[in-house]
Amino acid sequence: MNVASRPNDIQAVIEADRAHVWHHLSQHKQYESVDPKIYVEGKGTRVWDATGKEYLDAVAGAVWTVNVGYGRTSIADAVRDQLVKLNYFAGAAGNVPAALFAEKLIEKMPGMTRVYYSNSGSEANEKVFKMVRQIAHRKHNGGKYKILYRDRDYHGTTLGTLAAAGQKERREQYGPMPEGFVEVPHCLEYRSQWGDVEDYGIRAANAIEDVILREGPETIGLLCLEPVTAGGGVITPPKGYWERVQEICRKYDVLLHIDEVVCGMGRTGKWFGYQHYGIEPDFVTMAKGVASGYAAISCTVTTEKVFELFKDDPTDPMSYFRDISTFGGCTSGPAAALENMRIIEDEGLLENTLKMGERLMNNLRELQSRHQVIGDVRGLGLFCGAELVMDRATKEPAPEKMVQAVTADCLAQGVIIGATNRSVPGLNNTLCMSPPLIINSAEIDQITGAIDKALTKVFG
Ligand code: PLP
Repeated sequence: MNVASRPNDIQAVIEADRAHVWHHLSQHKQYESVDPKIYVEGKGTRVWDATGKEYLDAVAGAVWTVNVGYGRTSIADAVRDQLVKLNYFAGAAGNVPAALFAEKLIEKMPGMTRVYYSNSGSEANEKVFKMVRQIAHRKHNGGKYKILYRDRDYHGTTLGTLAAAGQKERREQYGPMPEGFVEVPHCLEYRSQWGDVEDYGIRAANAIEDVILREGPETIGLLCLEPVTAGGGVITPPKGYWERVQEICRKYDVLLHIDEVVCGMGRTGKWFGYQHYGIEPDFVTMAKGVASGYAAISCTVTTEKVFELFKDDPTDPMSYFRDISTFGGCTSGPAAALENMRIIEDEGLLENTLKMGERLMNNLRELQSRHQVIGDVRGLGLFCGAELVMDRATKEPAPEKMVQAVTADCLAQGVIIGATNRSVPGLNNTLCMSPPLIINSAEIDQITGAIDKALTKVFG
């Protein structure tokens, strides 16, 4: 399969890429000495590169996206059928798959009623920020305009979402940033700000309240959080955290925005990460797993209460949400998303995620018992991380080069795993796994088997 699927002259493809493609997140000097990696085919949990080498993809397309796996002809068919019927119409008009997918999605999200379509996670989050700013103007006389974000969280690459990045290195050299974004502390218990305490989760949530009181509750409109911090270190929330966060938001009339761009659509074993904690957000955004990378689609989902704030106001011609996303009118996105959702339901992928996630966590804990370098393992469903440290007592982070040596060795063994936060000293030390949700036990064991060998090779 791999050889037949290779383009006739793969070297010509590589040269075209080297000459003209500006790769994401890449320092291009490396391509002077090594060929850029080009993947040519995928099936299930596996991908093949241009040399014909096969890999088990434990990160679902590098950035946690291909939830239902590669080579899904039923999604391709659904998209093709829709494209030949009507590929696109934008603006104030609707289309059939957009309406049907919105209805299906809302069924999975009690309390939510409205879906706003765009194309990327950044854009979906930016829409929330704009809605909050407009609500500030319309309802709070300019107050409640500030947006709280959390240390180590990430929400995208636009200037607005960068201003809300808890990974500060992402902002470097891109300032000045938009105003009105304020950071709250992280909730990584392994690196507790208060030492070894019983009530870490409550303290971490109360630290948000402290920021609200310091800034003035009348200035705070939104709290934006990831359910599990993804690229910032696979940080699962500590006990009691979310419940207290919800109380604080209600107490100070702060809208709660859950960024499910990574965790949404089954990644954690429920449709959405926040649904593990029984909380009721005002906004939920999602992107990656919504169509598993078969089409570009993101959604900003909210409640009728928020939607009502934008309804016709005869005294204000500016009262509606004056925003558009050109390709929010592509029908391929919701057509793919509908079939993607059917697959997750019909193939029991939420159940598989919980089962396989448990196996992955157990395997990682077993590795931790043998490899001193694994300081902490964290995870929810099929989103798991192993934090590497040079010394368990001081928790000195493993250097970036050594973490990269581990991922490189896994790659050489035919397993693609990730590592978080590459360019920051001390924050690049968590191995990251988020395979397609169809993964089986043998493949989970293959992932941890590769990590086992790589750790022995790199750290002894
Ligand atoms: N939110 C989170 C939690 C993410 O991890 C990402 C991307 O990795 C984004 C938002 C941005 O999504 P996109 O790259 O589609 O703009």
